[in-house]
Amino acid sequence: MADACLFCRIARKEIPATLVAETDECVAFRDINPEAPVHILVIPRDHIPSASAVKDAAVVGKMTQLAAELAKREGIAESGYRLVMNTNADAGQTVFHLHMHLLGGRRMAWPPG
Ligand code: 5GP
Ligand code: ZN
Repeated sequence: MADACLFCRIARKEIPATLVAETDECVAFRDINPEAPVHILVIPRDHIPSASAVKDAAVVGKMTQLAAELAKREGIAESGYRLVMNTNADAGQTVFHLHMHLLGGRRMAWPPG
């Protein structure tokens, strides 16, 4: 439900977060529990519960473009970064408002755990 959704509330600035970028379509803020030196969440302003519920493909394109721009700004574009969308239980999705994790600033293992 968008009214009570944590990330909708962050996008509406009802709940504080360290915002790093805002566009007409997206908001980006630092993850409260960073798993890497750079850990930013990029979300659409619209409430979309997960990747499974994406109807407008352009939304994901905008999120990816913003993440790439932020990677440059954070100085990790060359060293490398990971974009992740955890989807549903097995992937560990805990917040059901679509979000892209931008992770970087350290070497990451593959495959993920
Ligand atoms: P998921 O596990 O759903 O892929 O990712 C949710 C992410 O949201 C987690 O990395 C978690 O640390 C982050 N998170 C949860 N609550 C908050 C919050 O209130 N503020 C911020 N900035 N990040 C949050
Ligand atoms: Zn939401």
